Amino acid sequence: MAQKQQARRSKTAPSSETGEQAMIEAILEGSPEAVGVAVIRLDCGCRKMAAVGPSGNPASKIIMYRDKAQSICDQCKGDHGDFQRVVKQFISWKKPEPDHATMEMISAKVLGN
Ligand SMILES: [Zn+2]
Repeated sequence: MAQKQQARRSKTAPSSETGEQAMIEAILEGSPEAVGVAVIRLDCGCRKMAAVGPSGNPASKIIMYRDKAQSICDQCKGDHGDFQRVVKQFISWKKPEPDHATMEMISAKVLGN
């Protein structure tokens, strides 16, 4: 692990991905059959997440959340996180990760590329 040098800095200034990672773990915990969590980051800072099953099927409801906030922003309340505002989408795989072909298949199905 090459994280040793960054550990001290991230303690004083936690990155926004800390909350995201905690959320991913909570979703995986609630969806034992899931192989990963699809994460969609929106330009407003909110995120959409959903557990993904072994064949690329949804394994949970879509969860929307915003770091350190009681609720998602007003824009998301209006458009429910329109895909035009997506800045990044990826799947956070549960360990052990599925084989490469399976990951490709699931990514294509879930993220559509
Ligand atoms: Zn938002």
